[in-house]
Amino acid sequence: MTGIVVLGSTNMDLVAYVPHAPKRGETVTGREFRTIPGGKGANQAVAAARAGGDVAMIGAVGSDEFGELLRHTLEASGVDTDLLRTAEGPSGTAHIVVDDEGGNSIVVIPGANGAVTALGPGDEALIATSDALLLQLELPLSAVLDGAEAARRHGVRTILTPAPAQPLPPELLAVTDLLVPNEHEAATLAGVADPHMAAEALLRQVPEVVITLGSAGSLYAARGSAPVTVPAPRVRAVDTTGAGDTFVGALAVALVEGRPVQQALSWASAAAALCVQRPGASTSMPYRSEIDDAS
Ligand code: ATP
Repeated sequence: MTGIVVLGSTNMDLVAYVPHAPKRGETVTGREFRTIPGGKGANQAVAAARAGGDVAMIGAVGSDEFGELLRHTLEASGVDTDLLRTAEGPSGTAHIVVDDEGGNSIVVIPGANGAVTALGPGDEALIATSDALLLQLELPLSAVLDGAEAARRHGVRTILTPAPAQPLPPELLAVTDLLVPNEHEAATLAGVADPHMAAEALLRQVPEVVITLGSAGSLYAARGSAPVTVPAPRVRAVDTTGAGDTFVGALAVALVEGRPVQQALSWASAAAALCVQRPGASTSMPYRSEIDDAS
Protein backbone atom coordinates (compact mmCIF):
# COMPACT_ATOMS: atom_id res chain seq x y z
CA MET A 1 0.00 0.00 0.00
CA THR A 2 1.39 3.39 -0.97
CA GLY A 3 0.66 5.87 1.76
CA ILE A 4 1.03 9.14 -0.11
CA VAL A 5 0.76 10.01 -3.80
CA VAL A 6 1.87 13.41 -5.07
CA LEU A 7 0.38 14.63 -8.34
CA GLY A 8 2.47 17.65 -9.21
CA SER A 9 5.28 19.49 -10.91
CA THR A 10 8.98 18.90 -11.31
CA ASN A 11 11.12 21.90 -12.23
CA MET A 12 14.80 22.56 -12.50
CA ASP A 13 15.47 25.87 -10.75
CA LEU A 14 18.16 27.86 -12.57
CA VAL A 15 19.22 30.49 -10.08
CA ALA A 16 21.40 33.51 -10.86
CA TYR A 17 22.64 35.59 -7.91
CA VAL A 18 23.16 39.21 -9.03
CA PRO A 19 23.76 42.64 -7.42
CA HIS A 20 20.51 43.86 -9.01
CA ALA A 21 18.03 42.40 -11.48
CA PRO A 22 18.67 43.56 -15.08
CA LYS A 23 16.29 46.11 -16.55
CA ARG A 24 15.09 45.74 -20.14
CA GLY A 25 18.11 45.91 -22.48
CA GLU A 26 20.61 45.76 -19.60
CA THR A 27 23.27 43.08 -19.05
CA VAL A 28 24.32 42.41 -15.47
CA THR A 29 27.29 40.30 -14.37
CA GLY A 30 26.18 37.97 -11.62
CA ARG A 31 28.14 36.41 -8.76
CA GLU A 32 26.99 32.82 -8.85
CA PHE A 33 24.77 30.35 -10.68
CA ARG A 34 23.11 27.27 -9.17
CA THR A 35 21.04 24.46 -10.64
CA ILE A 36 18.60 23.25 -7.97
CA PRO A 37 16.00 20.48 -8.45
CA GLY A 38 12.56 21.76 -7.44
CA GLY A 39 8.94 22.19 -8.42
CA LYS A 40 6.30 22.23 -5.70
CA GLY A 41 5.16 18.68 -6.42
CA ALA A 42 8.64 17.20 -6.31
CA ASN A 43 9.49 19.22 -3.20
CA GLN A 44 6.44 17.94 -1.34
CA ALA A 45 7.26 14.37 -2.42
CA VAL A 46 10.83 14.67 -1.12
CA ALA A 47 9.63 16.26 2.12
CA ALA A 48 7.07 13.50 2.73
CA ALA A 49 9.52 10.70 1.89
CA ARG A 50 12.22 12.12 4.16
CA ALA A 51 9.61 12.47 6.90
CA GLY A 52 9.08 8.71 6.68
CA GLY A 53 6.18 8.46 4.24
CA ASP A 54 5.75 5.79 1.60
CA VAL A 55 5.57 8.18 -1.36
CA ALA A 56 4.96 7.91 -5.11
CA MET A 57 5.07 10.79 -7.59
CA ILE A 58 2.81 11.28 -10.62
CA GLY A 59 3.71 13.97 -13.17
CA ALA A 60 6.30 14.34 -15.89
CA VAL A 61 9.92 15.20 -16.47
CA GLY A 62 11.32 16.11 -19.89
CA SER A 63 13.46 13.94 -22.15
CA ASP A 64 16.49 16.21 -21.51
CA GLU A 65 19.34 15.94 -18.98
CA PHE A 66 17.35 17.92 -16.43
CA GLY A 67 14.68 15.24 -16.60
CA GLU A 68 17.14 12.56 -15.56
CA LEU A 69 18.44 14.72 -12.73
CA LEU A 70 14.93 15.52 -11.49
CA ARG A 71 13.99 11.84 -11.49
CA HIS A 72 17.22 10.90 -9.73
CA THR A 73 16.67 13.53 -7.01
CA LEU A 74 13.27 12.04 -6.20
CA GLU A 75 14.59 8.49 -6.16
CA ALA A 76 17.54 9.47 -3.95
CA SER A 77 15.04 10.51 -1.27
CA GLY A 78 13.10 7.25 -1.66
CA VAL A 79 10.22 8.49 -3.85
CA ASP A 80 8.71 5.89 -6.20
CA THR A 81 8.90 7.29 -9.75
CA ASP A 82 7.43 4.34 -11.68
CA LEU A 83 4.48 6.46 -12.85
CA LEU A 84 6.47 9.66 -13.38
CA ARG A 85 6.28 10.06 -17.14
CA THR A 86 9.07 11.22 -19.44
CA ALA A 87 7.49 13.65 -21.91
CA GLU A 88 9.24 14.33 -25.21
CA GLY A 89 10.86 17.79 -24.97
CA PRO A 90 12.34 19.97 -22.22
CA SER A 91 11.72 19.60 -18.49
CA GLY A 92 10.01 22.37 -16.57
CA THR A 93 12.39 25.15 -15.61
CA ALA A 94 12.23 28.13 -13.26
CA HIS A 95 14.62 30.95 -14.18
CA ILE A 96 15.25 32.80 -10.94
CA VAL A 97 17.19 36.01 -10.44
CA VAL A 98 18.04 36.72 -6.79
CA ASP A 99 19.38 40.20 -6.00
CA ASP A 100 21.61 41.31 -3.13
CA GLU A 101 18.60 42.41 -1.10
CA GLY A 102 17.13 38.91 -1.28
CA GLY A 103 14.40 39.98 -3.73
CA ASN A 104 13.72 37.71 -6.67
CA SER A 105 12.08 37.64 -10.08
CA ILE A 106 11.09 34.35 -11.65
CA VAL A 107 10.14 33.08 -15.10
CA VAL A 108 8.59 29.60 -15.03
CA ILE A 109 8.46 27.56 -18.23
CA PRO A 110 6.22 24.53 -17.58
CA GLY A 111 7.88 22.28 -20.20
CA ALA A 112 6.98 18.64 -19.46
CA ASN A 113 4.59 19.69 -16.67
CA GLY A 114 2.39 21.27 -19.33
CA ALA A 115 1.95 17.85 -20.96
CA VAL A 116 0.21 16.49 -17.85
CA THR A 117 -3.35 17.48 -18.71
CA ALA A 118 -5.07 14.41 -17.24
CA LEU A 119 -4.28 11.24 -15.30
CA GLY A 120 -2.40 8.62 -17.32
CA PRO A 121 -2.64 4.81 -17.40
CA GLY A 122 -2.22 3.34 -13.94
CA ASP A 123 -2.49 6.68 -12.11
CA GLU A 124 -6.02 6.19 -10.80
CA ALA A 125 -5.22 2.64 -9.64
CA LEU A 126 -2.23 3.99 -7.68
CA ILE A 127 -4.28 6.80 -6.14
CA ALA A 128 -6.96 4.27 -5.19
CA THR A 129 -4.53 2.30 -3.02
CA SER A 130 -3.17 5.37 -1.21
CA ASP A 131 -4.20 7.18 1.97
CA ALA A 132 -3.69 10.75 0.76
CA LEU A 133 -3.21 12.62 -2.51
CA LEU A 134 -1.13 15.83 -2.42
CA LEU A 135 -1.91 18.43 -5.08
CA GLN A 136 -0.62 21.90 -5.97
CA LEU A 137 -1.32 24.22 -8.91
CA GLU A 138 1.82 23.93 -11.04
CA LEU A 139 0.25 21.36 -13.39
CA PRO A 140 -2.60 22.18 -15.79
CA LEU A 141 -5.78 22.59 -13.72
CA SER A 142 -7.48 19.82 -15.73
CA ALA A 143 -4.99 17.27 -14.33
CA VAL A 144 -5.32 18.57 -10.77
CA LEU A 145 -9.10 18.24 -11.00
CA ASP A 146 -8.84 14.81 -12.61
CA GLY A 147 -6.61 13.59 -9.77
CA ALA A 148 -8.75 15.07 -7.01
CA GLU A 149 -11.92 13.58 -8.48
CA ALA A 150 -10.25 10.15 -8.76
CA ALA A 151 -9.19 10.39 -5.11
CA ARG A 152 -12.73 11.29 -4.08
CA ARG A 153 -14.14 8.31 -6.01
CA HIS A 154 -11.92 6.02 -3.95
CA GLY A 155 -12.37 7.74 -0.60
CA VAL A 156 -8.76 8.98 -0.57
CA ARG A 157 -8.05 12.18 1.37
CA THR A 158 -7.04 15.15 -0.84
CA ILE A 159 -4.64 17.81 0.45
CA LEU A 160 -4.38 20.84 -1.84
CA THR A 161 -1.73 23.57 -1.69
CA PRO A 162 -3.29 26.38 -3.78
CA ALA A 163 0.02 27.73 -5.11
CA PRO A 164 0.77 29.69 -7.21
CA ALA A 165 -2.07 31.84 -5.88
CA GLN A 166 -5.08 32.00 -8.19
CA PRO A 167 -8.86 31.82 -7.97
CA LEU A 168 -10.04 28.20 -8.02
CA PRO A 169 -12.99 26.57 -9.76
CA PRO A 170 -15.66 25.48 -7.25
CA GLU A 171 -15.54 21.94 -8.64
CA LEU A 172 -11.93 21.57 -7.41
CA LEU A 173 -12.72 22.89 -3.94
CA ALA A 174 -15.69 20.52 -3.86
CA VAL A 175 -13.30 17.53 -3.96
CA THR A 176 -10.70 19.02 -1.59
CA ASP A 177 -10.60 17.67 1.97
CA LEU A 178 -7.80 19.81 3.39
CA LEU A 179 -6.69 23.13 1.89
CA VAL A 180 -3.24 24.44 2.93
CA PRO A 181 -2.67 27.98 1.63
CA ASN A 182 -0.11 30.45 2.93
CA GLU A 183 -1.39 33.85 4.07
CA HIS A 184 -1.18 35.37 0.60
CA GLU A 185 -2.91 32.44 -1.12
CA ALA A 186 -5.63 32.40 1.55
CA ALA A 187 -6.29 36.10 0.96
CA THR A 188 -6.50 35.55 -2.81
CA LEU A 189 -8.99 32.70 -2.41
CA ALA A 190 -11.10 34.22 0.36
CA GLY A 191 -10.93 37.86 -0.75
CA VAL A 192 -10.03 38.94 2.79
CA ALA A 193 -6.57 39.47 4.33
CA ASP A 194 -7.18 38.54 7.98
CA PRO A 195 -6.30 34.81 8.36
CA HIS A 196 -9.13 34.07 10.83
CA MET A 197 -11.68 35.65 8.53
CA ALA A 198 -10.12 33.96 5.50
CA ALA A 199 -10.30 30.57 7.24
CA GLU A 200 -13.94 31.14 8.11
CA ALA A 201 -14.73 32.03 4.49
CA LEU A 202 -12.80 29.03 3.12
CA LEU A 203 -14.63 26.63 5.43
CA ARG A 204 -17.74 27.35 3.40
CA GLN A 205 -16.01 25.57 0.51
CA VAL A 206 -13.80 22.90 2.14
CA PRO A 207 -14.15 20.99 5.44
CA GLU A 208 -10.65 21.69 6.79
CA VAL A 209 -8.11 24.50 6.31
CA VAL A 210 -4.56 25.11 7.51
CA ILE A 211 -3.24 28.61 6.77
CA THR A 212 0.54 28.81 7.15
CA LEU A 213 1.75 32.08 8.65
CA GLY A 214 5.55 31.96 8.23
CA SER A 215 7.39 32.51 11.53
CA ALA A 216 4.00 33.08 13.21
CA GLY A 217 3.15 29.38 12.74
CA SER A 218 -0.14 28.12 11.34
CA LEU A 219 -3.87 28.38 11.85
CA TYR A 220 -6.04 25.25 11.71
CA ALA A 221 -9.78 25.49 11.21
CA ALA A 222 -12.43 22.82 10.68
CA ARG A 223 -16.19 23.00 10.31
CA GLY A 224 -17.93 22.82 13.65
CA SER A 225 -14.91 23.44 15.92
CA ALA A 226 -12.97 26.47 17.18
CA PRO A 227 -9.86 27.44 15.16
CA VAL A 228 -6.46 26.55 16.68
CA THR A 229 -3.21 28.48 16.26
CA VAL A 230 -0.05 26.37 16.27
CA PRO A 231 3.14 28.39 16.96
CA ALA A 232 6.32 27.89 14.93
CA PRO A 233 9.48 27.07 16.87
CA ARG A 234 11.66 30.18 17.33
CA VAL A 235 14.70 29.64 15.14
CA ARG A 236 17.18 31.71 13.16
CA ALA A 237 15.95 31.44 9.56
CA VAL A 238 18.62 31.58 6.86
CA ASP A 239 16.50 30.54 3.84
CA THR A 240 12.75 29.95 3.97
CA THR A 241 12.53 28.46 0.46
CA GLY A 242 10.68 25.16 0.63
CA ALA A 243 9.28 25.77 4.14
CA GLY A 244 5.70 25.48 2.92
CA ASP A 245 6.37 22.26 1.00
CA THR A 246 8.24 20.74 3.95
CA PHE A 247 5.31 21.61 6.21
CA VAL A 248 2.75 19.97 3.88
CA GLY A 249 4.87 16.86 3.27
CA ALA A 250 5.42 16.24 6.99
CA LEU A 251 1.80 17.08 7.84
CA ALA A 252 0.56 14.52 5.31
CA VAL A 253 2.79 11.81 6.79
CA ALA A 254 1.58 12.52 10.33
CA LEU A 255 -2.08 12.57 9.28
CA VAL A 256 -1.76 9.34 7.28
CA GLU A 257 -0.24 7.76 10.39
CA GLY A 258 -3.42 8.70 12.23
CA ARG A 259 -1.96 11.26 14.61
CA PRO A 260 -4.35 13.83 16.09
CA VAL A 261 -4.43 17.03 14.04
CA GLN A 262 -2.78 19.29 16.61
CA GLN A 263 0.06 16.83 17.17
CA ALA A 264 0.46 16.48 13.39
CA LEU A 265 0.63 20.28 13.01
CA SER A 266 3.31 20.62 15.72
CA TRP A 267 5.37 17.90 14.07
CA ALA A 268 5.03 19.60 10.65
CA SER A 269 6.05 22.91 12.23
CA ALA A 270 9.17 21.28 13.67
CA ALA A 271 10.01 19.93 10.20
CA ALA A 272 9.53 23.33 8.52
CA ALA A 273 11.58 25.07 11.21
CA LEU A 274 14.48 22.71 10.47
CA CYS A 275 14.16 23.50 6.75
CA VAL A 276 14.40 27.29 7.23
CA GLN A 277 17.63 26.98 9.20
CA ARG A 278 19.48 25.59 6.16
CA PRO A 279 20.02 27.02 2.66
CA GLY A 280 18.20 25.48 -0.34
CA ALA A 281 14.78 23.88 -0.81
CA SER A 282 14.71 20.09 -1.26
CA THR A 283 18.31 19.85 -0.02
CA SER A 284 17.32 21.45 3.30
CA MET A 285 14.36 19.17 4.03
CA PRO A 286 14.78 17.17 7.24
CA TYR A 287 14.68 13.41 7.77
CA ARG A 288 12.25 11.77 10.21
CA SER A 289 14.80 11.25 13.00
CA GLU A 290 15.72 14.94 12.90
CA ILE A 291 12.07 15.96 13.11
CA ASP A 292 11.48 13.58 16.02
CA ASP A 293 14.53 14.99 17.83
CA ALA A 294 13.33 18.56 17.30
CA SER A 295 9.69 18.05 18.27
P1 ATP B 1 7.78 29.08 1.07
O1 ATP B 1 7.11 29.68 -0.14
O2 ATP B 1 8.93 29.89 1.61
O3 ATP B 1 8.09 27.64 0.93
P2 ATP B 1 5.19 29.46 2.19
O4 ATP B 1 4.97 30.90 1.90
O5 ATP B 1 4.48 28.45 1.36
O6 ATP B 1 6.72 29.14 2.25
P3 ATP B 1 5.10 29.94 5.05
O7 ATP B 1 3.80 30.28 5.68
O8 ATP B 1 6.09 31.05 4.86
O9 ATP B 1 4.78 29.16 3.71
O10 ATP B 1 5.83 28.82 5.91
C1 ATP B 1 5.31 27.51 6.06
C2 ATP B 1 5.59 27.03 7.48
O11 ATP B 1 7.00 26.99 7.68
C3 ATP B 1 5.05 27.93 8.60
O12 ATP B 1 3.71 27.61 8.92
C4 ATP B 1 6.01 27.63 9.72
O13 ATP B 1 5.62 26.45 10.41
C5 ATP B 1 7.34 27.36 8.99
N1 ATP B 1 8.17 28.57 8.95
C6 ATP B 1 8.27 29.47 7.94
N2 ATP B 1 9.13 30.47 8.27
C7 ATP B 1 9.59 30.18 9.50
C8 ATP B 1 10.50 30.81 10.41
N3 ATP B 1 11.11 31.96 10.09
N4 ATP B 1 10.73 30.22 11.61
C9 ATP B 1 10.14 29.05 11.95
N5 ATP B 1 9.26 28.41 11.13
C10 ATP B 1 8.98 28.96 9.94
